[in-house]
Amino acid sequence: MAQEESLLKTVKEGKMNAGGIVKKAAILGINQANREAEFHPRYRGNPNIQEAGLKMNLEHCFMNHRAPANGRYKPTCYEHAANCYTHAFLIVPAIVGSAFLHRLSDDCWEKITAWIYGMGLCALFIVSTVFHIVSWKKSHLRTVEHCFHMCDRMVIYFFIAASYAPWLNLRELGPLAAHMRWFIWLMAAGGTIYVFLYHEKYKVVELFFYLTMGFSPALVVTSMNNTDGLHELACGGLIYCLGVVFFKSDGIIPFAHAIWHLFVATAAAVHYYAIWKYLYRSPTDFMRHL
Ligand SMILES: [Zn+2]
Repeated sequence: MAQEESLLKTVKEGKMNAGGIVKKAAILGINQANREAEFHPRYRGNPNIQEAGLKMNLEHCFMNHRAPANGRYKPTCYEHAANCYTHAFLIVPAIVGSAFLHRLSDDCWEKITAWIYGMGLCALFIVSTVFHIVSWKKSHLRTVEHCFHMCDRMVIYFFIAASYAPWLNLRELGPLAAHMRWFIWLMAAGGTIYVFLYHEKYKVVELFFYLTMGFSPALVVTSMNNTDGLHELACGGLIYCLGVVFFKSDGIIPFAHAIWHLFVATAAAVHYYAIWKYLYRSPTDFMRHL
């Protein structure tokens, strides 16, 4: 209320131009635009300012301004909700899918790999959902929100490693390529340390790390003798890459982060399908043995 009063005072004194009024009106609401238009000599009785206020008011529901270079984008309420739901709805399918892969396992190594992959998959959606809920509902708890944001970023490194684990663990690899089995986890650990040290400081470096970690095991995987499923693997990778455009478009495209979540979900589903189809016993085979 105090903010509204001081704004009105500024308008009455003629210290604010039309652009300023429209921006403030959008922040304070359309009723405020009407009140300001009444007071401003230039816009008294002019309906345009109310229209402009209404338009900007609507835009502010779906998107906020870009974040500063070292700051974080502040989603609107609608964006917060979309960020939460787009990953929350995938937690149960991820758990069921992981359990199913575990059931399809023929030996100990396949079982361990199903665990690793399943944990990476479930952790991604659970941690992301918890972070977005905290960011929406508990943003005043700055330290808690900061911790969950770090976890949200760290889990991506482990998710990438876990997504490659079935291919690296269950396919024949050459002596040199086989080192990628442990090296990918070393990269995930390196990414975690980076988040601890430089979280939110160098966003381009962070993106570079994600892409490097996403692409380097692919070089090894494509050198395998058995290339079944590699098309699906590449297709999933392409979907992640397209999603990065939205990951970096907060404040430019409304609901950009939620759209990024949908790309992640689609790519993860394509990768799950490939792992299930090409690396584990086929479900029809499984049914026959029940
Ligand atoms: Zn997210």
